[in-house]
Amino acid sequence: KSKEISGNSYHFFSSGMDTRTFEIVKFENALYKALDQNELMIYYQPQINYETNTIVGVEALLRWNHPTEGMVSPDEFIPIAEETGLIVPIGEWVLRNACLQIKEWHRKGFPLISVSVNLSVRQFEQDNLFGMVKSILKKTELAPEYLHLEVTENQIIKNSDITLKTMEQLKGLGISIAIDDFGTGYSSLGYLKNFPISTLKIDKSFVQDIIQDEDNAAITNTIITLAQNLHLNVIAEGVETKEQAEFLAARSCYLMQGYYFSRPMKAEDIAELYLSCGVN
Ligand code: C2E
Ligand code: MG
Ligand code: MG
Ligand code: MG
Repeated sequence: KSKEISGNSYHFFSSGMDTRTFEIVKFENALYKALDQNELMIYYQPQINYETNTIVGVEALLRWNHPTEGMVSPDEFIPIAEETGLIVPIGEWVLRNACLQIKEWHRKGFPLISVSVNLSVRQFEQDNLFGMVKSILKKTELAPEYLHLEVTENQIIKNSDITLKTMEQLKGLGISIAIDDFGTGYSSLGYLKNFPISTLKIDKSFVQDIIQDEDNAAITNTIITLAQNLHLNVIAEGVETKEQAEFLAARSCYLMQGYYFSRPMKAEDIAELYLSCGVN
């Protein structure tokens, strides 16, 4: 019997875990400091209306400029921020700074674009998400119609009672809510009826293959039709080529975001883009 619990393999497993835990704790501590030490920054990616050829909004995308690791992708640190609860202060920071930035552009006379901010489910579990959002809008003086919040299907399902209540309050204020990465999460469509959603965001994994892959083209077509039938807005993310943009436009999906138009950029670069186009 005792042979089965081999001393060696036990030791191997345990030391492996220790190293991993150590790395995570180190990473967590660094993330704690990141907020205080101004290592977090927001990039903005334009959202285009392809029909009118205008920028209608930007999505705020978090970046961590780590002192030794360089730019760390949000896919790497958001999960840890969620696990530790750090996403609550970080999410609040993103929201406040994104609203401040957009309001500043409005004040400068740039076109009245909106800002989309990603929310994590942990933020719906926090004490008073609605109160926090409301007070940020008040302090920054950004009109609620210019704030869009993005959540994923799984997040909605996970804590549906509290999420529904908060979403209704947010909608009551005039904020609109988009389902991010639509089509990749929980497959029950019933929530589209019950939740105050205004936009479906087609996941980039479908968009990227619409030209080559019939299945992805079919899924994209279906999402566009679903949105149209439910009177929801639809935006495609991850548009990288003209062919993809034309495919979407041919199906009346004009709202697009992707590298074909622009990568996420620093706020200064967005401002420069506007100034070089002769706005103001
Ligand atoms: P997301 O909200 O679905 O954002 C879209 C992601 O696709 C972004 O990745 C963006 O840079 C990338 N993208 C845009 N256009 C293209 C394209 O044409 N091709 C390709 N291959 N990618 C494109 P990013 O910035 O690395 O963010 C990854 C994810 O991290 C986001 O996915 C979002 O879920 C999360 N995230 C980012 N910022 C925040 C935040 O402030 N709060 C929370 N909770 N999550 C955030
Ligand atoms: Mg998003
Ligand atoms: Mg997405
Ligand atoms: Mg995503």
